[in-house]
Amino acid sequence: MMSFEKIVIQLKQLIPGHRILTDEDECRLYDCDGLTLHRGVTPGVLLLENEQEVIDAVKVFSAAGVPFVARGAGTGLSGGAVPLDQAWVIDVHRMREIIELNPLQRTAVIEPGVINLDLDRAAAVHGLRFAPDPSSQRACTVGGNIAENSGGPHCFLHGMTTRHILSVRTVLADGSVLELPRDGGGIDWRGAFIGSEGTFGITVQATVRLIPRPQCVRTFLVSYNSLEASCDAVTNIIARGLRPAALEILDRLTIKAVEASVFRAGYPRDAEAVLLIELEGLPQELEEATQKVREACLSAASIDFEEADDEASRERLWRGRKGAFGAMGRIDSDLYVLDAVVPRTRLAEAISGIQAIGRKYKLVLSNVFHAGDGNLHPNISFDAADPEQRKRVLSAGDEILRLCVSLGGTLSGEHGIGIEKRDHMSLIFSAEQLETQSLLRKAVDPQGLANPGKILPSGRGCVEAGFRGAGHQRRTQQVLGSDSKDKGVPPVGDTP
Ligand SMILES: Cc1cc2nc3c(=O)[nH]c(=O)nc-3n(C[C@H](O)[C@H](O)[C@H](O)COP(=O)(O)OP(=O)(O)OC[C@H]3O[C@@H](n4cnc5c(N)ncnc54)[C@H](O)[C@@H]3O)c2cc1C
Repeated sequence: MMSFEKIVIQLKQLIPGHRILTDEDECRLYDCDGLTLHRGVTPGVLLLENEQEVIDAVKVFSAAGVPFVARGAGTGLSGGAVPLDQAWVIDVHRMREIIELNPLQRTAVIEPGVINLDLDRAAAVHGLRFAPDPSSQRACTVGGNIAENSGGPHCFLHGMTTRHILSVRTVLADGSVLELPRDGGGIDWRGAFIGSEGTFGITVQATVRLIPRPQCVRTFLVSYNSLEASCDAVTNIIARGLRPAALEILDRLTIKAVEASVFRAGYPRDAEAVLLIELEGLPQELEEATQKVREACLSAASIDFEEADDEASRERLWRGRKGAFGAMGRIDSDLYVLDAVVPRTRLAEAISGIQAIGRKYKLVLSNVFHAGDGNLHPNISFDAADPEQRKRVLSAGDEILRLCVSLGGTLSGEHGIGIEKRDHMSLIFSAEQLETQSLLRKAVDPQGLANPGKILPSGRGCVEAGFRGAGHQRRTQQVLGSDSKDKGVPPVGDTP
């Protein structure tokens, strides 16, 4: 392998020096993504601004046999952008131009670092929208969405990112450029690339599909005195043949965290769960659908049914949901957002099993999830500075994933596999199926340089998260209040 110094010399001939970071402290900023449980170490970070720079950098790494990992905004929740095996970080968040927006064709050509919400806002000027709406949409990049095949509340109706990407232009691990068109015939390489988490190469451009904004939207917040009842309501709604745009559930602990935060949305603090429902369509059809939704919610014993009566109250209701993960910062310093899927009909069963796991490991566990898709997000609030707590968090996460798979579910609804679930892949794929995936990866990247150590179990480890020392403030009790014990939550300092 070429020496670090030689690589830097070569890179400096191609990329301005101030955009090549090799200082240890600066590089440390790139050692993890939104999942702080897993960290890596990178020898250097490149802040790239155009396609040619990506090609040039990747060619240097390819010739030197040095691994690299693409990074957008670093909001990933499965450790996808963590540098393993001494990979260099190729940060493309500066490539954020909307190159062309064609309202007649309803398409946009974009660079990979375009922020999801910026694209949606640009489309809104023409009465259009970019449908995938992860709760991180203020920060995450469309390149990251493509790599993770991201979802969001409205993907229940409109489909995941892959349905909204018409073509992708990618730099492969040898520096060559490949166009992956949608309707090219033959093998769907575009389909294989979307969701490959940066292991097939780096997206440098994409053509995305834009869809019309709905003529009419109706948003409801329904409260329940049990989480199970809110899950039953979801089943009832679907059973009535309705297809809402979004069906989101937040549990009591999440409601309390939201209401105590800047994302306060006026959710009822005494409810055990709230169900946020959004319908889209023509005004007349929504009248009938609203009636059916109301009936479905009542038959699941709702305790309150509120409809947003204007855009401001709609935004308020969504603010709580979209800010829910951020609000968790009030509970403890670290948050592990799990992502698993179960059949919708088994949501209530899964939730009660997950709560039992939380109690078993004495962890602060809350739930906020895309109920329509059966896509659960059990959230564990914890203090990463406490090694013993970390162990319990990882064990609980492992049991939750196994539970969801045993209920007929799968490992990820939208956050990808990354490092987090790499070693769980054998729960859903046979050795032959994993080998087939590995062969595909080898065909695209024979040297295994693009984002090594991700998705497929390979035995490669990563650095355990560093521990922060004194000064760490626990805020658990403040947010949970006096009834935290009732929920099987340990009081501060009460670890087994
Ligand atoms: C508060 C919060 C809420 C979230 N809500 C949701 C949600 O509702 N739905 C959802 O699906 N996700 C959600 N996420 C997860 C995350 O935001 C998404 O996975 C997002 O798509 C990641 O985008 P990013 O730009 O941050 O990518 P990064 O984290 O930088 O990278 C993610 C992966 O993509 C690869 N990658 C990035 N850019 C490129 C590129 N140009 N070419 C090739 N590979 C690339 C990286 O190597 C890595 O494997 C949430 C995260 C947070 C922190």
